[in-house]
Amino acid sequence: MAKLTLANGVVFGRAEERIREYCEVEVYRDRNYRGGYDDHHNVSDSVTLEDLEAVNNLRAHLSLLDKGRITHSAEIRAGLELVDDTELGKLGEARWRDTRTRIGELVSSLLSLPNVGVSECTKILHLKRPHLVPILDSYVVKFLTSNDLDSNSFSAEELVQICLGAMDMVRADLGRNEPSMSELQAGLADLPVLLTKVRLHGILCWTQEKWVNRGDRACPYGIAGRSLSQALSQVALASGSIPEAGDSEPTGEIRTIKEFRQVKLRAEGVIVTTGSKPPKAHRALCRELSEERFTEAVVFNDGKKGRYYQRRDLAEAVRDFHAAACMKCKPERPIVR
Ligand SMILES: [Zn+2]
Repeated sequence: MAKLTLANGVVFGRAEERIREYCEVEVYRDRNYRGGYDDHHNVSDSVTLEDLEAVNNLRAHLSLLDKGRITHSAEIRAGLELVDDTELGKLGEARWRDTRTRIGELVSSLLSLPNVGVSECTKILHLKRPHLVPILDSYVVKFLTSNDLDSNSFSAEELVQICLGAMDMVRADLGRNEPSMSELQAGLADLPVLLTKVRLHGILCWTQEKWVNRGDRACPYGIAGRSLSQALSQVALASGSIPEAGDSEPTGEIRTIKEFRQVKLRAEGVIVTTGSKPPKAHRALCRELSEERFTEAVVFNDGKKGRYYQRRDLAEAVRDFHAAACMKCKPERPIVR
């Protein structure tokens, strides 16, 4: 599985796993009489009530009145007629400039309606043009542009520019990460509902912002967890190095008190703590590795300020984390039994 590197520096080593987890725990397709979203693509020039129902399934709250205003808008219909459902990442400069202007007008028409923000607007447009328009809700916009849509501090014109600026970034990310994106999409060909590249990119951004950056892992169908350890890439990136760990390799992260005790009990290998720059490699028995500190870092802070990893020896710790040997326990010295 190829790596995906986004413009903001975040690296995804196991993107496929992340997408699969999203499809399991989030709103994806109709399930148990609860409506889905991604199974409601509808490429046409008119927005239907069914489209807006699907948008509401994905955390929007459009009322009947709101829906009526959108479905009856001649401006939105005319705007959609001018925009083809082309792959965003494959649009050349000239065509993108053209399309960008038209999308700007379409977004502007939608934002002029009451209760339609950037999030609702792009959730609608993604269903109408699933290969072209990414979903830009407040998580994705924050992740990509650092703008906080929830602060409600932007004028309509500024919101249009934020939207278009974010689309520029998505387009650049897709272009730069081709063919990894194609590989990712092909790897997910067995999913019941196929996801376009802008959507795959959007899911990576959204989950990274909500699940990892904000630690909010509660989802409609479970709690996200399995695919989160690729934050390893982020930690390593923050310390200026990218680990060579392959996708199939376990990351060796120690995540529970039980695992922590077992590793210490066996006294094998080294433990890398990533809370410092550079990360530190310890013997398993080092006094710095107390249960209190582990609990504080991993259980209470969810690894945000540092994680714990096991490696076979100091050489591996240096290779994978550019770790420095702890001065107290000196893991570079051979163990005398
Ligand atoms: Zn130590």
